[in-house]
Amino acid sequence: MTVLDGNSELNLLASVAARFEVAAKKLSLDEGLQKYLRHPDLEVLVHLPIVMDNGQLDVFDGYRVQHSIARGPCKGGIRYGPNVTLDEIRGLAAEMTWKCAVVNIPFGGAKGGIVCDPSKLSMGELERITRRYTAEILDFIGPERDVLAPDMNTNEQTMAWIMDTYSMHLRHTVTAVVTGKPLELGGSLGRREATGRGCMIVCDEALKRFGWRRDAMRVIVQGFGNVGSQAARLMHEAGYKVIGVADIEGGLFNPNGLDLPQLLEFAKKHGTVKGFPGGEEIGNQEILEQDCEVLLPAATESVITSKNAGKIKTRILVEGANGPTTSPADDILFDRGVFVIPDILANAGGVTVSYFEWVQDRQGYFWPEGMVNERLKHIMVAAFNNVTAYGEKHHVNNRIAAYMLAIERVAFSLKLRGIYA
Ligand code: NAD
Repeated sequence: MTVLDGNSELNLLASVAARFEVAAKKLSLDEGLQKYLRHPDLEVLVHLPIVMDNGQLDVFDGYRVQHSIARGPCKGGIRYGPNVTLDEIRGLAAEMTWKCAVVNIPFGGAKGGIVCDPSKLSMGELERITRRYTAEILDFIGPERDVLAPDMNTNEQTMAWIMDTYSMHLRHTVTAVVTGKPLELGGSLGRREATGRGCMIVCDEALKRFGWRRDAMRVIVQGFGNVGSQAARLMHEAGYKVIGVADIEGGLFNPNGLDLPQLLEFAKKHGTVKGFPGGEEIGNQEILEQDCEVLLPAATESVITSKNAGKIKTRILVEGANGPTTSPADDILFDRGVFVIPDILANAGGVTVSYFEWVQDRQGYFWPEGMVNERLKHIMVAAFNNVTAYGEKHHVNNRIAAYMLAIERVAFSLKLRGIYA
């Protein structure tokens, strides 16, 4: 397990904290409130004993961090990975608070993670790890408390196991404890595509600002999982030219445009984009430095750092992933005139449709897909306009504007609620 130095540029929590400091200072936020918001409300660490398929007992670490309940129940994904750290989860939980506030939905932020390598686990082992984790954190989650969702290496099936385990303990079915569920179990139409669709909606808005056309936009997407593959597909269908994609195995580049429908078929069959015959092979970091108008990192954090930010050639950066750019890289991109649509705005389509799913579950009344997509667009466009207008008014870049807008909203709720003692 790689534990990053707390002061390292690559430490996501350090970047989230640095941005918070800048935004809070610009807002002249009360010192006490700053202190309050720097700390998560609750952190849970669990050790999960699991009987592996070979009969041996192993133990896995799991985390759930709830950053803030100021504006509503906590909301946030859960990720599995060998390098998951508590600091990373803390940073992501805080980002969720700011993200929900940017799109103005009534949730606070949380995040969870389990330190495990899913590529080395059977379905049975994954199910046992997921169920045991759910049972261990049971007292802290629920539709009114903390609602989980998929993230890296977790999916609809993971959500189904969590929902079932929670429901078994409560003795009745509680669909709204998770979002990103299968449709058959109370999932929402449009959720699977929501994060990628949200990325495209905000990118469309940026194009309108610059008077650019979709068909003149060359797009590169790093990460071909839920977010990256859906964003690439939707953008291709809308007329953007997707010239590069990459996943953990490697990348593909074709300046004339990739055949997305065939690539999606290939990736579904082989589990990777690597080896697809319609483009040249390229490294998954190298792909970030290619000439394009839209760069969409949708894989993992800290891929754009002070080391490579000077080589990024895109005009628009749409942060599909959480924390793909480190705080020191922000300034370099800004100086180079890259229009950054920060993660807490760009990828908020996922949590927005998760909110719709939670609303539908609680009402027991499900919306048609067109309504989901229309309401998503309405929220994303409003959030984009709010953030850019805020930035212009306060002479700050989009990232700091998004943070300021979010912190202001959360701080206002806290002031109204007061401090219970
Ligand atoms: P996923 O597990 O479905 O896909 C991740 C993809 O990234 C895979 O294709 C993987 O091969 C690739 N990848 C991993 N490391 C890589 C690397 N070093 N270089 C290139 N590719 C690499 O995950 P996801 O749900 O699509 O999430 C991707 C990112 O988006 C994460 O940062 C996540 O926190 C963020 N996010 C996800 C959602 C959502 O709704 N799923 C919502 C908001 C933000």
